[in-house]
Amino acid sequence: AIAHPGEMSAMQLLGNADVALFAAKTQGRNRAVMFDDVLRLEIDERSDTEMMLREALAHGGLRLYYQPEIDMTTGRILAVEALVRCEHPERGIIPAGKFIAVAEETGLVVDLGRWVLEEACRQMQVWRDRYPGLDLLMRVNMSPAQLSSPGITEHISRCLRQSNLLGSALCLEITEHVVMQDVERAIKILEEFRTLGVRLAMDDFGTGFSSMAQLKRIPIDTLKIDMSFVIGLAHEPADQAIVEAIVHLGEAFGLDLVAEGVENHEDMAELIRLGCQRAQGFLLARPMPPADLDPLLWRGGIDLARV
Ligand code: C2E
Ligand code: MG
Ligand code: MG
Repeated sequence: AIAHPGEMSAMQLLGNADVALFAAKTQGRNRAVMFDDVLRLEIDERSDTEMMLREALAHGGLRLYYQPEIDMTTGRILAVEALVRCEHPERGIIPAGKFIAVAEETGLVVDLGRWVLEEACRQMQVWRDRYPGLDLLMRVNMSPAQLSSPGITEHISRCLRQSNLLGSALCLEITEHVVMQDVERAIKILEEFRTLGVRLAMDDFGTGFSSMAQLKRIPIDTLKIDMSFVIGLAHEPADQAIVEAIVHLGEAFGLDLVAEGVENHEDMAELIRLGCQRAQGFLLARPMPPADLDPLLWRGGIDLARV
């Protein structure tokens, strides 16, 4: 990092050098990185995002949107996935993809995750009361930091109790990367969750290099096929081979399969052909605020003729 006399303090200069050091480490170490405008912009954006998150956490600015998971042969809604949003006074509704990495880095994701779980369970109870015949599963994403935060099992248990829900109404989604980082630990925590009766899904499956031997030991019941294999599936023989392999794997291990990222009819038809009927995607339904979901829940599904 370079500065000219009078431009900044020694502390700031050292801070900039530290940012460059961090960048060098994350780019794979053993290299030189110069602090420049691109890095400056990145840290400015990161600290803006952090501020937005702190503000939202402290003053009720978080929202949950819900994306239905659909049986593509019947249109029935089988589950909903809770996806966190941040409501910003000027920028509007910000999707999780824009801030979850910062939440993770700063540790804010632990508080955020607690709120998400409570709110999702509360909403589930509302829907259960409103639509008593509805057989619906609530899926909630769980971040690495949250997974290893102390008292997490008790927290899940408390959320279920407060909302009068059975564990089987809730499915926690954990990404494959997280499980693979430390398999033994993950298995231990997931086994603990299991005692509550909750279901477990492996999110973004296919991107995290699970070995078959380990997959066999991990107590999950659902694989969510990462959208990178689904978008454009109809025209990608390599992706078709991968999805086909995942379908066989699911069958062999007795796991449910859900495809993510269905954006067009061709990919949807291809998924069904390959043996995967459950999916989420913009073609079927976008993530939406709870009130928008009511008409769909009332009907029990979507009209496939209209997608
Ligand atoms: P994810 O769990 O794999 O969720 C799917 C993401 O893909 C969502 O983005 C969703 O809006 C988006 N998506 C759904 N259908 C389509 C489609 O057809 N095409 C495309 N291109 N995208 C689609 P979102 O809401 O921005 O969330 C991004 C990620 O952030 C999630 O990936 C999840 O890992 C994480 N996340 C979301 N909510 C939470 C939360 O409450 N807690 C934690 N820890 N992580 C969350
Ligand atoms: Mg997910
Ligand atoms: Mg995913």
